[in-house]
Amino acid sequence: MLSSIKKIGIVIFIIVLLPLTVYTVYQLNNLSDNEKFLENVYNEQLNTIIFSVNQYVDDLLQSWSGRIINIYNNDNSDIQNEFTNFCSSNPSISLIIISDTLFSNDIKFYSKAGQNNSENAITRMQNILKSNSEKIENLKKFKNLGYNRIETLSNKLDDTPLLSFLINEENNIRVAILVINMDEFINKNLVSKINSISSNDLIVSVFHNEELITNSSNSEIQFSDLIEHKNIWNFPNYYLGVSTTSATIQDIVKERSFINMIILALLNLIIISGVIFLFISINREIKLSQLKSDFVSNVSHEIRTPLSLIGMFAETLELHRVTTEEKKDEYYRIIRKETERLTRIVNSILNFSKMESNSKKYKFEKNNLNNIIDEVLVTYQHELNNGKNICLIKKLDNLPDIEIDKEAIMEATMNLIDNAIKYCHDKCEIEISTGINDNFAYIEVKDNGIGISKENQKKIFEKFFRVTSGNVHNTKGSGLGLSLVKHIVEAHNGIISVESKLGNGSKFRLNFPINNLT
Ligand code: ADP
Repeated sequence: MLSSIKKIGIVIFIIVLLPLTVYTVYQLNNLSDNEKFLENVYNEQLNTIIFSVNQYVDDLLQSWSGRIINIYNNDNSDIQNEFTNFCSSNPSISLIIISDTLFSNDIKFYSKAGQNNSENAITRMQNILKSNSEKIENLKKFKNLGYNRIETLSNKLDDTPLLSFLINEENNIRVAILVINMDEFINKNLVSKINSISSNDLIVSVFHNEELITNSSNSEIQFSDLIEHKNIWNFPNYYLGVSTTSATIQDIVKERSFINMIILALLNLIIISGVIFLFISINREIKLSQLKSDFVSNVSHEIRTPLSLIGMFAETLELHRVTTEEKKDEYYRIIRKETERLTRIVNSILNFSKMESNSKKYKFEKNNLNNIIDEVLVTYQHELNNGKNICLIKKLDNLPDIEIDKEAIMEATMNLIDNAIKYCHDKCEIEISTGINDNFAYIEVKDNGIGISKENQKKIFEKFFRVTSGNVHNTKGSGLGLSLVKHIVEAHNGIISVESKLGNGSKFRLNFPINNLT
């Protein structure tokens, strides 16, 4: 039996639990992959937004540099005047500086206030240009390839952007430098662009280092709140960052993944509970079928003994082999007793089958439990007081009459007495009593027999159950007795209870409500 349960366990594991585990692992993997994929797509989109602002800044710088190159290369133009006007109409440009590539003293400064070439400023600019000579060389290389690149010069004094590009003046190359006023640039040129691409949910901010300068929503945003940030091209230490006012995609994806995981866990729980339930049911069915087959062999055994005794004694009597009347009487008594035993076995099987099909009918009439004991004792007189067994009867006087099915209660009591005799040691001391407890009248059968362990006390009322340890199985029985007794008591709205200790006897009590069938 054990091996078939094991086999079923393995089959269930292979058919259900293994695929379930594989599916769960696959789903969990998939969930985190999906999460990563969505996060990447989202971040790419945010980067595209930042890129579009950078592209706008770059276009603006290119148009400024183009305009300056045009003014410078136009022979007819009044450079001084045009640059002054250009700076006036573009307040983000605080200075336009033109130098030769050797960084000589021929450096010109133009602003909206006109030309201002102070010695001090020239020397400072010469130093900056010299320290950036490598970048200027780079610009030349790009120029030779036909590309007008804008390079930011490093300026150790402050973060004011110095944007340099080259101007071709016939064979002579000049370096132009735009000094940008960042406050003006951000307020006049950047804010409108930022506002145009922001939305209620999406905020674009400008940071200098990690300090907020402005954003599209006028709200306090920390650098650490940004979902994505990127350097503004050509403006070192200035950053563009995006954040959201609502939940981020990461939050949404995480929440969805969490819900999916909960659903997956619930699904697993339901399937595993189902499998456990199935396994327990199969286990129970297998055990029941084992009990049934034990029952068939027990009953056959029980029936065979009285039958062979009856056959043997009847044959002896028929062949007139018995000479004395005393012997004949003894044989007749044995035949009668064995017939009664057979009748009891058959009756209990019939009753059990009626009980199983719910067709057992009870006939309730007012009666007294003391009368039941008296009638039962008539049948059991000999067995209970035969030298081997001692029986003590304690009936409570004035026990009230209650509505009972006399035959059924007698059968239940006889079952208890039968068991008390069957499961005792050599000398049985049995006490049969009646009494009242709370609102219950009871019959109690107490013995000094082998007793029942705590664990088995829970099972003895199950159909076909018989204790398998010790020498109990040597005792005949069908395993139906106590389940019948329980059924009878419950049909009377009563309660059956057992108190027992292994090796120390048992006490069964049938409790019937005094006002049981109102
Ligand atoms: P049966 O006696 O035919 O085996 P029952 O349903 O009457 O079936 O009893 C179920 C089991 O309970 C018995 O096999 C026995 O192991 C245990 N049992 C019942 N009554 C007693 C008792 N008085 N003392 C010890 N064990 C008992």
